[in-house]
Amino acid sequence: MKTEPRFLRQGLVLMAWLLFVAVPVQSQARDNPPTSAELKAVVQEAYDKFKDVKDGANANYIPELDKVPSDLFGVAIVTAKGEVFVAGDVDYAFSIQSVSKPFTAALVMQQQGADAIAEKIGVEPTGLKFNAIIATQLIPQVSVNPLVNSGAIASVSMVQADSAEARFNTILDWFNRLSAAKLSVIEDVYKSEAATNQRNRAHAYILAASDRIYSDPMEATDVYTRQCSIGVTAKQLAVMGATLANGGTNPVSKQKVLDPKYVPKVLSIMLTAGFYNESGIWSYTAGLPAKTGVGGGIVAVVPGRMAIVGFSPRVNDAGNSIRAMKAIEFISDKLALSIFGSGK
Ligand code: GLU
Repeated sequence: MKTEPRFLRQGLVLMAWLLFVAVPVQSQARDNPPTSAELKAVVQEAYDKFKDVKDGANANYIPELDKVPSDLFGVAIVTAKGEVFVAGDVDYAFSIQSVSKPFTAALVMQQQGADAIAEKIGVEPTGLKFNAIIATQLIPQVSVNPLVNSGAIASVSMVQADSAEARFNTILDWFNRLSAAKLSVIEDVYKSEAATNQRNRAHAYILAASDRIYSDPMEATDVYTRQCSIGVTAKQLAVMGATLANGGTNPVSKQKVLDPKYVPKVLSIMLTAGFYNESGIWSYTAGLPAKTGVGGGIVAVVPGRMAIVGFSPRVNDAGNSIRAMKAIEFISDKLALSIFGSGK
């Protein structure tokens, strides 16, 4: 059968349209980053939208955390280029708590390679709470992953140093380089947590019984407790996250901190385990690798683009800050930032 010239012409036009218009528009959408004006506006909008939410309560199993003013609320974005957008209480130093964990895992990767974390700790999510003892029985690696308490204590024990003091100082120095700031321990939080961390000591002994901890168990628990008590502001935490978003180079100090080959490893653990037993729903709603802490901070990373931080002390049953989650989810949704999407 002979093809009608009219159909041939139409076919050619359709092909040309697909090649030169439709496909480029689609890939342009993926490469189209939000503008500075959009980022400034969305941070303010997220703050205004959730500032009056009062759901949840301060974590009180560490008594000192109950004393933090519950109404504090801050939202910050730092881009991979070092631009800063903030609203609310972004200069209040809260305890970093579990948000510290991926950064120490990154330090161990930098010192010993990514396989060391996978082999000596593990990278499987537990689907259980951050301090679930039962996870160590259920999962063959015992320490599970570096973002739950047992794995985070193991991670601290792997930091190369010949004394507890040196180990902590190496971690603090690392956090300083990631944040381009001079951070310090909130001593009252440290004392309060050190006096009530029997459960974490139990984790350390369980690890020791299975040869899954790599320095003295009580020393590792103490350095871990100090690490969790480091004070950080929402702005400083956003710079730490932006260093991951920027392939390991701090966008504010311009210093190369983490080898870029470890960034995807750290982010992958944050995606599967950063929200503990809420990691699935978090990935479903925000679609971003992130880490929470019972101090009320959450850092989320948009690879290559930015870090988004929310801080608000009232947490839910899983220990995740309610307003911080809402603010980050809102921003991710509004700017179509999910790593699984194709952009705006
Ligand atoms: N330092 C806290 C603990 O070990 C961290 C928990 C968290 O932030 O999720 O219990």
